Amino acid sequence: MERMTAEKRVEELRNLLNQYNYEYHVLDRPSVPDAEYDQLMRELTQIEEQFHDLITTDSPTQRVGGEVLSAFEKVEHRIPMLSLGNAFNEADLRDFDRRVKQAVGEEVEYVCELKIDGLAISLRYENGLFIQGATRGDGTIGEDITTNLKTIRSIPLRLKQEFSIEVRGEAYMPKKSFEKLNLTKEENGEEPFANPRNAAAGSLRQLDSRIAASRNLDTFLYAIGDFSETGVSTHSDGLDLLENLGFKVNKEREKCANIDEVLQYVQKWVEKRPNLPYEIDGIVIKVNSLDQQKELGFTAKSPRWAIAYKFPAEEVVTKLLDIELSVGRTGVITPTAILEPVRVAGTKVQRASLHNEDLIREKDIKLGDYVVIKKAGDIIPEVVNVLVERRTGEEQEFLMPSHCPECNSDLVRLEGEVALRCINPKCPAQIREGLIHFVSRNAMNIDGLGEKVISQLFSHQLIHDVADIYHLQKDQLLELERMGEKSVNNLLAAIQQSKSNSLEKLLFGLGIRHVGAKAAKTLAQQFGNMDVLISATRDELTSIQDIGEKMADSIVAYFENEEARQLIDELKQAGLNMSYNGPMPVQAESMTSVLAGKTVVLTGKLEQLNRNEAKEKLEALGANVTGSVSKKTDLVIAGADAGSKLAKANELGIEVWDEEKMLEEFNR
Ligand code: NAD
Repeated sequence: MERMTAEKRVEELRNLLNQYNYEYHVLDRPSVPDAEYDQLMRELTQIEEQFHDLITTDSPTQRVGGEVLSAFEKVEHRIPMLSLGNAFNEADLRDFDRRVKQAVGEEVEYVCELKIDGLAISLRYENGLFIQGATRGDGTIGEDITTNLKTIRSIPLRLKQEFSIEVRGEAYMPKKSFEKLNLTKEENGEEPFANPRNAAAGSLRQLDSRIAASRNLDTFLYAIGDFSETGVSTHSDGLDLLENLGFKVNKEREKCANIDEVLQYVQKWVEKRPNLPYEIDGIVIKVNSLDQQKELGFTAKSPRWAIAYKFPAEEVVTKLLDIELSVGRTGVITPTAILEPVRVAGTKVQRASLHNEDLIREKDIKLGDYVVIKKAGDIIPEVVNVLVERRTGEEQEFLMPSHCPECNSDLVRLEGEVALRCINPKCPAQIREGLIHFVSRNAMNIDGLGEKVISQLFSHQLIHDVADIYHLQKDQLLELERMGEKSVNNLLAAIQQSKSNSLEKLLFGLGIRHVGAKAAKTLAQQFGNMDVLISATRDELTSIQDIGEKMADSIVAYFENEEARQLIDELKQAGLNMSYNGPMPVQAESMTSVLAGKTVVLTGKLEQLNRNEAKEKLEALGANVTGSVSKKTDLVIAGADAGSKLAKANELGIEVWDEEKMLEEFNR
């Protein structure tokens, strides 16, 4: 790969992965399958391996988890809570074994455990009493969810011995509770949780602990912050100790004398997995000896002595009953398979996108076929292949129509595109989809105004364009199906609240061709408000990084359109905010700080800033702030009464600054 291409791709991959991480770890609402995320992550790792100098400390390959929600108190993990390296096949596992043996010699025993599909938690006990529980957060700082964790019956509030320890494990939702919860959600017309991990995380990150209490969560614990502090010398003895202290430890753990036994264990659980009462998404393999673990150490985001084998996605067979066509916001016609309902990974599946006609031909899909379905990464259902051997001769060829299923105008296939399009700008389906896009999460994010409500409002002719949303009246909404007084009030409040959204949300919501959420943000940051943007010339637009000619043309054309300008005027009159009010991007020159690229540890008590403010500032200057001092630390910033971390920094000869010096650098 050429360097230029690599730089560009790295940037693209990081943006995508950061967005997916945020959706997955912070919002508990992933938008792409794990398999896709894992594949992008692998691609980034491979490019970074080829071009070492492209690795930055804030690359998703170097970071754990997501951000910490400000709704909760923050907890700093004494020992960072890391992620695990991934293995997807036998070769990856054998590579892992080879790397381990190269470092510690031929004699290695492993412990295999089930990889519970839940949420990593840390529990602190002092003199045997449970005092604090936290999420993993970004690995260094987690969220204090003690009250919610106390509702889980398997977490002992008092240990059998008066230990002061930090215990780690997984909080999860058993399959039965997960399926029940999703069924209720589906019945109420709400979006089901994508997988048990999201369900557990969503339940534990509720501010109302009664909700967590009602969700029937459970735990398995699998580590002590620092096992060696307890006097045990192997991981498996540590697990036994946890059990003796009163924790729930998973029974299926096994010691394996070599990698072949590990592979057998993996195979056994690939088969037995469906019978378990909880979901697992893989197997975790750990080196048993704690001395060997120490020798192997850690990478920036995971231990070198452990690896997670990830199961391929679950596949089920069902019948394809029909193919339905839908018209998207830009007029693209998408065929969707209507399936005999089946349950896959906890949710009912009855539709799967077939994307376009080419895919139907490629997979040779016919009406009435038995098809294999998988939910890659447990989210988006897709047709894997057709079971040709189950054909009876009754199956029928599917033919794409020549006319739009909604407005009956001729469909066209634009040059170089696989999709068929309806190019009638007045096509009601396109208008409706545009409205749905306008209220969606990355756009105006109006809660309670989902696809169903929009469709009803549109078909009752209560809204024709997005400005009409802001003129909706209470009595009009009360007439809709399933809309009571309370939901109408909430909806009106959400509509009202959306008026103050920062400009980029509106820009993205307008659905200007080629302007995605990221470009909308760049435009909002650069131009500050709508009027300045409207009068921007093509040259002004293309002079901005990330805005290409195609996008610039489309923006200019959009704002030249009389109807579009009228719409914006109407929105202004309705009271919508037309300026950017988010943070400005980090300026490139700040990356010249001596802190850029440095791994920094904060310790002791700071006088001028609190710990988080300091961390944010350091990160804004390009530093990577971590929780513990090691050979990899470049700089320790020690406030008053700094203890063991400062001592360790001195021992390792690491540069130490006081708060004053840090502030000087901030103000430089
Ligand atoms: P991970 O899930 O691959 O593995 C680490 C986690 O495994 C630990 O934090 C712990 O919670 C869990 N675990 C369960 N049982 C365990 C056991 N017995 N011993 C040790 N740990 C155990 O890593 P991660 O950092 O939590 O998440 C990254 C993964 O999340 C990615 O590989 C991807 O599949 C998924 N992800 C998906 C998206 C998306 O948009 N779909 C986005 C981000 C992450």
